[in-house]
Amino acid sequence: VAQVDSPTIKPINKSAVHKICAGQVILDLPSAVKELVENSLDAGATSIEVALKEYGQEWFQVIDNGCGILPCNFKVLALKHHTSKLADFHDLQSLATFGFRGEALSSLCMLGNLTVETRTKSELVGTQLTYDHSGVLMEEKKIARQIGTTVTVKKLFSTFPVRSKEFSRNIRREYGKLVSLLNAYAIISKGVRLVCTNTTGKNLKSVVLKTQGTGSLKDNIITVFGLSTFNCLESVTLCIANSCQVDGYVSKAGSGSGRYMGDRQYFFVNGRPIDMPKVGKLVNELYKGANSRQYPIAILNFTIPTMAYDVNVTPDKRKIFFSDEGSILSSLRETLEKIYIPSHISYSISRVD
Ligand code: ADP
Ligand code: MG
Repeated sequence: VAQVDSPTIKPINKSAVHKICAGQVILDLPSAVKELVENSLDAGATSIEVALKEYGQEWFQVIDNGCGILPCNFKVLALKHHTSKLADFHDLQSLATFGFRGEALSSLCMLGNLTVETRTKSELVGTQLTYDHSGVLMEEKKIARQIGTTVTVKKLFSTFPVRSKEFSRNIRREYGKLVSLLNAYAIISKGVRLVCTNTTGKNLKSVVLKTQGTGSLKDNIITVFGLSTFNCLESVTLCIANSCQVDGYVSKAGSGSGRYMGDRQYFFVNGRPIDMPKVGKLVNELYKGANSRQYPIAILNFTIPTMAYDVNVTPDKRKIFFSDEGSILSSLRETLEKIYIPSHISYSISRVD
């Protein structure tokens, strides 16, 4: 005999659902800023500035020179599941943008205080927009600004007491993770100038990251990590069946310069930074065979047809399902073995007659 009464099933109220989901899309400072940077890239920006106040704890802001937002979109901009990027599920198969679910701005509204300043090329002046926690437009005001968009989030997680406490306790760690993530976008974005600044105290502004927006992966790596680090890298190009390709750089066998496991290891799928633990494990494992004293740097971009993977796996879009992961990994293994186990390629015996 059952010990408890069977409970009635009821719907959760809408705003609670929204709050629950918002906390999954935006996990921490890096994922919050990542969403804004991706929006700027999707808007075709060639210049993006991330400004932080007190490491992002007070506020953070992403300023771009992208296409701006049309006045007809002001009201719906921060509503949940409102997007200009995807209309139907099958659009995911040919996705060319970072965003697609229309969840970032609505989640940020729920988690902090959101304001947007924007202007498109067809407007003569800009507009400043203020939204409430449920993404409803509260105030609209004309301002002077150039074409593009600035999104500001104040007091992230102030609506989530537990996370708010964690956030202030871990702020320096979250900030470190954010800078590393911004490096990923700086490395992979060609022709985009990316700057990150942090202001502490009264007015102490420091530049954390600055790239010029040049055209190649090589130039970007040199700007982010320096020429001497780049000189320790070896280029990797690899074609795999089913029109998949891998390009990038890994440490040469004798000169790893990662300071710890996973340091400066960046993996991308069609230019999207992605967590790829299996690839990371493979690189580390093979590198260990050649050099057990250091860790390898690895920067690898996987070009894969959009219908051959699924990016709609986690709310933060950091994971991907591949339809053919096995063959990608085994081809990568073969290539890396050639770099890290030289005896595989040449073994010459000199004959003395
Ligand atoms: P998604 O990126 O999945 O569409 P978001 O909540 O991040 O969802 O953004 C909602 C919409 O707001 C986008 O589809 C886009 O049209 C617009 N938008 C957001 N940020 C910008 C920006 N920096 N520049 C231009 N449009 C933007
Ligand atoms: Mg987005």
